Amino acid sequence: MYELKFDDNLCKTCPTGDCLVKCQYLDVEKKTAVEEMVKIGQGEDSFVLQDCVTCYACEEYCKRGNHPFYLITERREEKGILTSPRAITKQWINIGEPQGKYRLGDVKERVLSFGFMPEFLQWVKGKLFEDVMPSYIFGQEFFCNVVYIHFANTSIIKERLPKIVDNFRKLGVKEVIFVHDECYGAFAHLAPAYGIEVPFKSVHYFEYLYNRLKELKDFI
Ligand code: SF4
Ligand code: SF4
Repeated sequence: MYELKFDDNLCKTCPTGDCLVKCQYLDVEKKTAVEEMVKIGQGEDSFVLQDCVTCYACEEYCKRGNHPFYLITERREEKGILTSPRAITKQWINIGEPQGKYRLGDVKERVLSFGFMPEFLQWVKGKLFEDVMPSYIFGQEFFCNVVYIHFANTSIIKERLPKIVDNFRKLGVKEVIFVHDECYGAFAHLAPAYGIEVPFKSVHYFEYLYNRLKELKDFI
């Protein structure tokens, strides 16, 4: 089983507590921030486990390479602190179950991923996309499953994500442009935090658009 890389000592010596001090949903000063993260790291209870709204931002606020939000989610799951009723969580988990209904375009080393949202296909046309289309994929077999982090369920992510990485690996892709932002976060950030090796470069859709607009500036 893959395990989160989290170093308690980094929190114990943290000079800022930025993860929680900068949180837009908790009102916390530095001393409390550091104390609460140390408690969470040691498996103790914390009001943060009740009050976090799963916005994900503290993953970016921490500049010491720790993973506060993933740790909060792990602890919530361990302690049974649910963020939604069990039936709704189960219904959502079923939505992401691979069903053999994925679709592949003319897949090349560089590919556009729609997660499992085929409606994106109608939006990607014209000059902006002609250097990548019709190399595309979508389907549950290529879906990151990171939505379940909002349900305090990292188990299902750790179970499914390595298989999904393997599905990409079998296609031999070298660069994946993710239209779904959480898919980008999964492969660029969450997978490495759990030691899951990703065999391709992850590109956010906005980065792709920015670079294409620069390339096509004479047409604008
Ligand atoms: S998670 Fe990062 S920012 Fe937060 S206390 Fe630990 S080291 Fe500091
Ligand atoms: S994920 Fe939770 S603790 Fe982290 S910044 Fe968002 S609300 Fe705050």
